[in-house]
Amino acid sequence: MSDVFQFMKLSRNPGDKVEASVRKIEFKEIYQPLHVVDAADQAGRCLSCGNPYCEWECPVHNYIPNWLKLVEEGRLFEAAELSHQTNSLPEICGRVCPQDRLCEGACTLNQGGFGAVSIGSIEKYITDEAFKAGWRPDMSRVVWTDKTVAVIGAGPAGLACADVLARNGVKPVVYDRYEEIGGLLTFGIPEFKLEKDVVRRRREILEGMGVRFVLNTEVGKDISIDKLLKQHDAVFMGMGAYQYMKGGFQGEDSPGVLEALPYLINNVRQNLGTLPKGEAPLSMRGKRVMVLGGGDTAMDCNRTAIRQGAKRVICAYRRDEANMPGSKREVANAREEGVEFLWNRQPIAIEPMIGGTLAVKLAETRLGAPDAKGRRKAEVIPGSEEVVECDHVLIAFGFQASAAPWFSSQGIEVDGSGRTMVSSRVAKGFKYQTANPKIFAGGDMVRGADLVVRAVFEGREAAEGILASFEK
Ligand code: FAD
Ligand code: SF4
Repeated sequence: MSDVFQFMKLSRNPGDKVEASVRKIEFKEIYQPLHVVDAADQAGRCLSCGNPYCEWECPVHNYIPNWLKLVEEGRLFEAAELSHQTNSLPEICGRVCPQDRLCEGACTLNQGGFGAVSIGSIEKYITDEAFKAGWRPDMSRVVWTDKTVAVIGAGPAGLACADVLARNGVKPVVYDRYEEIGGLLTFGIPEFKLEKDVVRRRREILEGMGVRFVLNTEVGKDISIDKLLKQHDAVFMGMGAYQYMKGGFQGEDSPGVLEALPYLINNVRQNLGTLPKGEAPLSMRGKRVMVLGGGDTAMDCNRTAIRQGAKRVICAYRRDEANMPGSKREVANAREEGVEFLWNRQPIAIEPMIGGTLAVKLAETRLGAPDAKGRRKAEVIPGSEEVVECDHVLIAFGFQASAAPWFSSQGIEVDGSGRTMVSSRVAKGFKYQTANPKIFAGGDMVRGADLVVRAVFEGREAAEGILASFEK
C-alpha cells in the first residue's frame, strides 16, 4: 500500500551527480542511474493528481503517473511497454529533456516547495533497466503490409517516425548522410549529457523491429529524391535545421573563430575514434576560450572546452541569466565545472592580434521592449565597450531550417524562416503532409531548432499522417 505522504518524508532525488572535479576531465554522463529501491521510492512521491499537469506539459503526453505507479510496484516491463506507447526514445528524453521547463516544472509538488518527482530520471531508469532485463518492444502482433516508407534523416524525428511505422506493419528505410544514427543525438549533444552507447542500443532495438538503416548516404547527392519516391510509397523528411546563424559583426570569420557544431562534432568523432582522415582534431587544451551564445549549444561548447583542458572558458550572452534560452540545469552544471559567465554582453567585433590571439570587443546591454516572440530585446548601452583577450572564440548563435535543393521541383514550400510547411500550415491534408501529398516532414526542419522530445512528437504524428494517407 503506497504512502500518500511519501513526498513529505522523502526528498527529491534525481540520481547522484558526479563531483565537478571528476566529471570535468571525462566525457561521461554526469547523472548516475537510480537504484531499484530509490526508483520505486521516488516514484512513490507522486501524488497521482486527478489532472496531471506533468502529462500536459510533456510534449509527447507521456502517461507519467501511470508508469510511476508501475515502477513503485516493481512492474518494470509493464512500465516499459506503457512508456513506449507515447515516446519512441524514452531513455533519451529522460536524459536530455529540460525537465525543469516541461514535466517536472509542472509537477504539483513544486507548488508546495517539496521538489518535483524525478520524472526524467525514472523515465530513463525504466527503459535502461527493462532493456538490461531482456525486455524488447512486442512486435508479435504486427502484420507486415507491402508498404514501405523512405525516412530521410536518422535524428529523433526520423527514428520516431520509423518506430511508429514499423509497429504498424510498414517497412521504414532510414537514410542518413552520417556514419551513425541519431542526428544531433550523436553528432551534436556531447557524451556528458548522452553517452553514445545509449543511441547505439536504440539502433539495435529499431533494427530488431524491422527498421533498415542506409547510412553514409546523402539524399540529393548519393541517391535522388525521385528514386526514393519511385521505390517507396511515401517519404518522411526529418532533416533537421543546420543553417548556421551569424552575428553579423566585424571579424567573425577570423582565424581562431570556430562554429559551434563542427567543433562539437569533431570532438565526438575524436572520442568515437571516427575522425575522418585529413580532418585535424580540434582541441582547446591550455587555451583561453570565449563562447558566444546562451542556448544548449553554447553550454555544450563551454563544457566540452573545459573537458578538453581549456585554461579559461568565458561564456558571453546578450541577455541576463533569467532570460537565457538554455536549460537552467545545464547552466548550473557549467558553472560548477568552472565556466565563467558574462551576462548582458553583446559582441561588437573580433580583432586578430599579433601572436595569434583574439581581442573580443563586447558591449554591455540592457533589456528593452519585447520582440515579436515576446522576448525582451537586448539593447546596447552606448560607451560600455570592453575588450577581452582570448585564443579561440566559439560561436553558438543557433541554427535555422532551410529548403533542400529538391523542394521546388517537388512543390514543397518553406516559410520566411526556412521552415518546411506542413498540413497544419498549408491547405488541408494528412498530419505533417507537405504540399506534395507523398512527402511528409517533422522535427527541427518544420519547427525550427527546438528540442529532441518535440522532434519525437512530430515524427510520431507524421507517421500517423502517412498511415492515414495509405488508408484513403
Ligand atoms: P536532427 O537531430 O538534426 O537530425 C537530422 C538528421 O538528418 C541528421 O542526422 C542529418 O545528418 C540528416 N540529414 C539531413 N539532410 C540529409 C540528407 N539530404 N540526406 C541524408 N540525411 C540527411 N535538445 C534537447 O531536447 N535537449 C538538449 O540537451 C539538446 N542539446 C542540444 C545540443 C546541441 C549542440 C544542439 C545543436 C541541439 C541540441 N538540442 C537539444 C536540440 C535537438 O538536438 C534537436 O532539436 C533534435 O535533434 C532535432 O531532431 P531532428 O530529427 O529534427 O533533426
Ligand atoms: Fe518529461 Fe521529456 Fe519524459 Fe516528457 S519526455 S516526461 S517532458 S522527460
